[in-house]
Amino acid sequence: MKANLLGYDAEALQRFFLEQGEKPFRARQVMRWIHQSGEAEFSRMSDLARGLREKLAATACVEAPQIVGDTLAADGTRKWLLKVDGANAVEAVFIPEASRGTLCVSSQAGCVLDCAFCSTGKQGFNRNLSTAEIVGQLWLANKELHREVSSGRIISNVVMMGMGEPLLNLDNVIPALRLMLDDNAYGLSRRRVTVSTAGVIPGMDRLRDECPVALAVSLHAPNDALRDRLVPLNRKYPLRELLAACNRYLEKAPRDFVTFEYVMLEGVNDGDAEARELVAIAARVRCKYNLIPFNPFPRSEFRRSGPERIRRFGEILQRAGVTVTTRKTRGDDIAAACGQLAGDVADRTRRRVVLKEVRA
Ligand code: SAH
Repeated sequence: MKANLLGYDAEALQRFFLEQGEKPFRARQVMRWIHQSGEAEFSRMSDLARGLREKLAATACVEAPQIVGDTLAADGTRKWLLKVDGANAVEAVFIPEASRGTLCVSSQAGCVLDCAFCSTGKQGFNRNLSTAEIVGQLWLANKELHREVSSGRIISNVVMMGMGEPLLNLDNVIPALRLMLDDNAYGLSRRRVTVSTAGVIPGMDRLRDECPVALAVSLHAPNDALRDRLVPLNRKYPLRELLAACNRYLEKAPRDFVTFEYVMLEGVNDGDAEARELVAIAARVRCKYNLIPFNPFPRSEFRRSGPERIRRFGEILQRAGVTVTTRKTRGDDIAAACGQLAGDVADRTRRRVVLKEVRA
């Protein structure tokens, strides 16, 4: 099988060239071709000797997932459905804003965590995405967006907030993050690359040591009783330990706060009492809260909190001196909003098995 160089970070690519008996600086050249020029054909990499180009064409390839769906929302949000193998497709979403362009990237086909309010969780879990499949989402989006010459749209931020739990796939996510940060690839700042987790503590510690980027934690509940229900992973990693892990992470993070995501579910977690509990949590971890109005999906059992309730909830936090923002819902007319990414995952049965391992 040919080596898919799309998923090779600087170190892996240098090793690859050394093994081929080539100079390691070839890695930098080829990396620029692949990620900055979006080039997939070695024959067109004009500053490589012809012999090397032919050798590469025989031993390697640059292969991204295949775009099988491309939808544009009224607000400019764009969603791609990407086939990663015969049975699985994942989604990536581009969200244009005045001052930045954010790409929301998936890390797994499906998810084991089964959060009560999340559409991806209802799909079950099938498999981890490879590094090439993760970074391939950015590679494809860049190409697609540059094709619209006049739009001037570019990707300045990446959030690992698509399908899956990135911290359960760190072996593949970390090299993808390194490529996002590498000046010879995408050159994004550490502060503009965000990993979002439901609270996988060992993964937080590993990310902190190996590739610290901005961190978002899906909190969604201010106490264990409620969080056990909404985010089942909490039964394994309860709040006390999660908050301690956040503080360890902050020792090495590029930002001096953690973003706590908080989905607003009517009558479930949106009362004044919960807001006050969040104030108490903010005294234990440097954080910002991001309130996410719940995005419904077919057969979801929750309702979105009303605008007045969300305003009042945010006000309690704000009056206590806690930073809070409310996420604008983007792309909901094409099911591209948070928690609506479903892709197409074949295996709906394995989740229960894997969950036992996760919870054990
Ligand atoms: N597994 C990671 C990455 C997913 S990020 C994590 O849990 O953080 C997706 C974000 O959207 C998470 O904060 C998730 O909890 C939230 N979310 C999931 N379903 C949602 C829904 N229906 N409405 C709003 N937000 C949702």
